[in-house]
Amino acid sequence: MKKMLLSFAVVIAAFIGIVGYRLNSSVDISKGSTLVYDTEESKGDDKENTDEASSDNPGDASLGENPEDTVLEEAAVNLDEEKAEDAEITQTPKKRNTISVNTDPNSIGVLVNRDYLIDKDYVPGDLVVPNVRFSYYGVYEKSFMREIAAYWLERLFKAAERDGMILEAVSAYRSYETQISVHNGHVDNLGRDEAENVSAEAGTSEHETGLCIDISCQTLGDSLEESFGVYEEGIWVAQNAYKYGYVIRYPYDKEAVTGYDYEPWHIRYVGKRLALRLHKKNWCLEEYYQNTLIKNEVDVTKDEEKFAKLKEDGLVSFETTIPASAAPVV
Ligand SMILES: [Zn+2]
Repeated sequence: MKKMLLSFAVVIAAFIGIVGYRLNSSVDISKGSTLVYDTEESKGDDKENTDEASSDNPGDASLGENPEDTVLEEAAVNLDEEKAEDAEITQTPKKRNTISVNTDPNSIGVLVNRDYLIDKDYVPGDLVVPNVRFSYYGVYEKSFMREIAAYWLERLFKAAERDGMILEAVSAYRSYETQISVHNGHVDNLGRDEAENVSAEAGTSEHETGLCIDISCQTLGDSLEESFGVYEEGIWVAQNAYKYGYVIRYPYDKEAVTGYDYEPWHIRYVGKRLALRLHKKNWCLEEYYQNTLIKNEVDVTKDEEKFAKLKEDGLVSFETTIPASAAPVV
């Protein structure tokens, strides 16, 4: 009897063990998928909070600031977000609902290229001359940029200088008319086909937005050439520009997407949030608009609002604020 009871107990124990194992397994699986789902869902809220917190960072007001900390916080959140975004793209390739292209010339997120032209009558309303080292003396149309871009360019140059890199501004804003003559000059020198790779026709150039600038360094004689990308100044720019809201607009591995040859000297202001996304994803601006799901759109107005607040508080000033139209054209 004792033996029978013992055998019965062993059988019961084995049964409980098997059922328990199966239950545990199924719980583990469902728990795993629930966890993944929860993580994806909670990201949006986390990001909002981080953005809100960072937009109140008073450190941004001083020229000597280091915005890196704020950006790194955002980067950590964005890394999670990127994984979720990639997973979603893999799972539902046909149901993707991507953002629409920003074509507002007054927005820092505007896309200007051969497909998305800027109005020929557009003239930015807030052109100023950034207080940075230029490759020439005097003030010309090409010395001007939009205020927000100029403000962050000053900080970019200052940070480079702290790291021992002396950058120089070469060419920023160009009116529609100037772009016509610049492009025609390239066509005369190189022929139409080659000119198309290195120069934009009027209406398709970012220089008309006042948000970009060609930069170089004395070590390179201030010329705009590909080798800037292998000089230590150019490497520094490629690695750090995003912290100040700038990106290399025509990267070397994106020629097929941008339609332009590699231009390590041409940097474009898009705001810290968008610059960070492009940097982390290794995307050019075209790819951002092609690949970003609506829920992951970067809110560039937050960078614009933050700058407007700095202005309102009297923390933004430029020495030269004469209209670009009054400056001599070179
Ligand atoms: Zn350029």
